[in-house]
Amino acid sequence: MIEFRNVEKRYDDQTAGSALTDFNLTIGDGEFVFIIGESGAGKSTLLRLLMGEEKPTKGSVVVDGVNVGRIRPAKLPYYRRHFGMVYQDFRLLKDYTVYENVAFAQRVVGASPQGMKRRIPKILETVGMADKADSLPSQLSGGEQQRAAIARAVVNGPMYLLADEPTGNLDPAGSEEVLRLLESINRGGTTVIVVTHDAAVVDKARKRVVTLRDGSVVSDVKEGGYGDA
Ligand code: ADP
Repeated sequence: MIEFRNVEKRYDDQTAGSALTDFNLTIGDGEFVFIIGESGAGKSTLLRLLMGEEKPTKGSVVVDGVNVGRIRPAKLPYYRRHFGMVYQDFRLLKDYTVYENVAFAQRVVGASPQGMKRRIPKILETVGMADKADSLPSQLSGGEQQRAAIARAVVNGPMYLLADEPTGNLDPAGSEEVLRLLESINRGGTTVIVVTHDAAVVDKARKRVVTLRDGSVVSDVKEGGYGDA
């Protein structure tokens, strides 16, 4: 479970206002949540606090009972293994094949070669990329690159999948594929948090929609749409 409790975040060099104020948000295990809001609303700050890249000025961010702002720097890499990350620009290693990109994520956590041989083909099957395992990112469509990136994000079995504008570079068909894949990963038990401006995707999914404005939650709707706030 993720809890933002009365969080305020003001960056050191922030002259006026705060990135987050009076910020309260609880995300339960297994939920699928969209975080939406205009540029500057505080969405990236929320993700940075969650990953322990920044600390709250006031209040606390608590993940599975752990106060994230109090985790020692040396322990942060382990804490971050609870999260799979997906980005707008995919961030695949361009000289590596799809298989090698996923394998890289497994090697970082010290997976055994036997475990990798079993797990990687399975995850590529799940994201529909088994037949592209030996392709380089440059040989793939945007939707395929993002599916490969999602495979990499979930191969280590994270509790949480955080996607930052995952459909921002995709056409409608690619966006729909990615949405369906995120939903299917969510059905498998992973909590999915998607930061997005993609109204079509939000409207299609009918999931929980949390809208931020000026650093606070202004609306939180179950099975919501993009324009509900
Ligand atoms: P969003 O991701 O919704 O666009 P951000 O979390 O990036 O919003 O920004 C929220 C507010 O915090 C904005 O006013 C922004 O200018 C400010 N901000 C973000 N990062 C920094 C930073 N590193 N230093 C100072 N101010 C920042």
